[in-house]
Amino acid sequence: MSRNSELFERACKVIPGGVNSPVRAFGSVGGTPCFVERAQGPYIWDADGQQYTDYVGSWGPAILGHSDPDVIKAVQEAAVHGLSYGAPTEGEVVLAETLTQMLPSIEQVRLVSSGTEATMSAIRLARGFTGRNTIIKFEGCYHGHADSLLVKAGSGLLTFGNPTSAGVPAEFVAHTLVLDYNNLDAVRDAFKQKGDEIACIIVEPFAGNMNLVRPAPGFLEGLRELCTEYGAVLIFDEVMTGFRVGPQGVQGLTGIRPDLTTLAKVIGGGMPVGAFGGRRDIMQCVAPVGGVYQAGTLSGNPVAVAAGLATLKKLAQPGFYDTLTANTANLIQGLKAAAQEAGVPFTADHQGGLFGIYFSENVPTSLAAVSAGDIERFKQFFHAMLDKGVYFAPSAFEAGFVSVQHTSDITDATVQAAREVFANFKN
Ligand code: PMP
Repeated sequence: MSRNSELFERACKVIPGGVNSPVRAFGSVGGTPCFVERAQGPYIWDADGQQYTDYVGSWGPAILGHSDPDVIKAVQEAAVHGLSYGAPTEGEVVLAETLTQMLPSIEQVRLVSSGTEATMSAIRLARGFTGRNTIIKFEGCYHGHADSLLVKAGSGLLTFGNPTSAGVPAEFVAHTLVLDYNNLDAVRDAFKQKGDEIACIIVEPFAGNMNLVRPAPGFLEGLRELCTEYGAVLIFDEVMTGFRVGPQGVQGLTGIRPDLTTLAKVIGGGMPVGAFGGRRDIMQCVAPVGGVYQAGTLSGNPVAVAAGLATLKKLAQPGFYDTLTANTANLIQGLKAAAQEAGVPFTADHQGGLFGIYFSENVPTSLAAVSAGDIERFKQFFHAMLDKGVYFAPSAFEAGFVSVQHTSDITDATVQAAREVFANFKN
């Protein structure tokens, strides 16, 4: 028995599904998940010693590649001084200053330990600030696993076919209005009907949890206008897109200024850091200044903050995003060309270090379009690529991640592997 299989068998006895987060299981593609032993640059190695080129990147954080020496050094140096104090540190101030400098919409920011905490807190804050209850989210967007957001959500919920979680009382989601992504008319209607009850819109400004789906032209602008008109809070959930699609996330790409932004993943450089921040008048409602309570024993953890700071420092180096984008573009153009040569219906999209691959003719603009893609083909592709040492996300409803270490020789090798896989599809 392979060591992966042995570990999985042991894991399933003591951990539900053998994993500590559902998307790690090969639930929708079948097979045994890779138990990772170590990771370096663009590669991971599993428990059987097999090397894979990794396009998951810890689901986003590993933008520098794994085990970046400067980040590891920062973590080691911080750890020597103690792992957690439960009292403020200079590092937290520097990280908050860095985030407010890099993202102009963030005037004040609060650090937390995960994306889930960031979005959950941002929603509470939006409700506290406006004194309203209703929130708008979009189908296929995933904002972590807080109760009120687990309705028609993306990521693992889509992958496993239960987009709305059990265990969430109907009353808890009675104030959550779920609309179609990219359907601005539906949002307009909702505001017409109950504009004075809507506390906020939370949106993945590029959706990355139903595969990658871009906002339609005018969609985000429309959300901004409606929120301004009706006094609702616009929350950009940039947990995935922040520092990933560009140095200022989607807000930098589009010039749209949200009222609040949620961040995680890249800003922790592989350690648990999340953040929510935005307009000063809204952030002033957070305890201890205001009445919206929010707290965390390990919030702003010194070791995690050191990893985040070391990561953000490297992202600010000139040309970083040009290299990242070139790496992703090389992969995506190569995959598209290889599929076309083989006559396989396939397309792809990318921005910065984020990409989507679709077994369909056109880039999807909605969850329905993603779902209409050839999911069976994806599964075949996933396993054939895994056999060739390439690790894509084990779900057709997840985006892919490229790091600055995925240089053209590495992405060319992935494309060559895909060419062989696509050629077999034809037969
Ligand atoms: N929001 C978005 C957009 C995400 O992609 C995720 C995680 N994939 C979350 C929130 C939740 O973050 P975490 O898993 O750190 O709780």
